[in-house]
Amino acid sequence: MERISAGPHHTAYKIGDLTVTSLRDGYVDMPVRRLHKPGGEPFGNDLPSQVPLFDRALRLSVNAFAIDDGQDITLIDTGSANAWHPTMGFLPQALDEARIAVERIRTVAFTHTHLDHIHGLVLADGRDGFPRLSRLFVPRAELDMFRSVARLSRFRAEPLDPGQRLSANIEAIAAPGHEIGHTCFRVTSGGETLLVWGDLVHVPSLQFERPEVAWEFDADQEQARATRLRILALAADNAWCVAGAHLDSPGVGRVSRGETGFRFQPL
Ligand SMILES: [Zn+2]
Repeated sequence: MERISAGPHHTAYKIGDLTVTSLRDGYVDMPVRRLHKPGGEPFGNDLPSQVPLFDRALRLSVNAFAIDDGQDITLIDTGSANAWHPTMGFLPQALDEARIAVERIRTVAFTHTHLDHIHGLVLADGRDGFPRLSRLFVPRAELDMFRSVARLSRFRAEPLDPGQRLSANIEAIAAPGHEIGHTCFRVTSGGETLLVWGDLVHVPSLQFERPEVAWEFDADQEQARATRLRILALAADNAWCVAGAHLDSPGVGRVSRGETGFRFQPL
């Protein structure tokens, strides 16, 4: 995987015949207590000093990923538009900067249905973010959750199952725990593999080394831990590149096994 262009809100890579672009929707600051030790006790003053803090808060990037096969563009997650903090919602600027015309985005797929991933379907002014959208994939177990979001009720979603292919290059992989239908996408071309893994890791400065540390918003923390370990091992042992929704922007790199846990090397 090779970097071909970059700017404040985007970084584009070549992977085989594909162009994958990391799009920076923004960031969100979260209290330290969102990080939970095994057993459920939150971190406080005992947070390891390796974790950088911004005004005493954890800072999470919010990234989406566009996959261009030369014909169509598939977008994995859409950011949060104006549904949450004003530090997010910059996906349209990121697409602009990356010179990706929104009319070319015909397929959108969600890793899961939390608001920082789905609300970018609708722009802050109420218009459709992707006027020529023809396929919208939502993990089957979260279809009801998606349909309950009033602002997005005009969208017709198709269920997405593990093993399903969105195209010749993109395959869904089950990764439940953070949410009931949480899904990763394996992107392959020219013998290279990139795993777009959604919310497998929220705080990279801690959770690679200590994958047992969970996030308060993991719907099932035990399952999220087990899934994190399984997918980290899969990525490390197969030398896959990974792309994370909350890894520090642009959020693309490689995973290796460390003395304890795993290590992340940004690309
Ligand atoms: Zn998220």
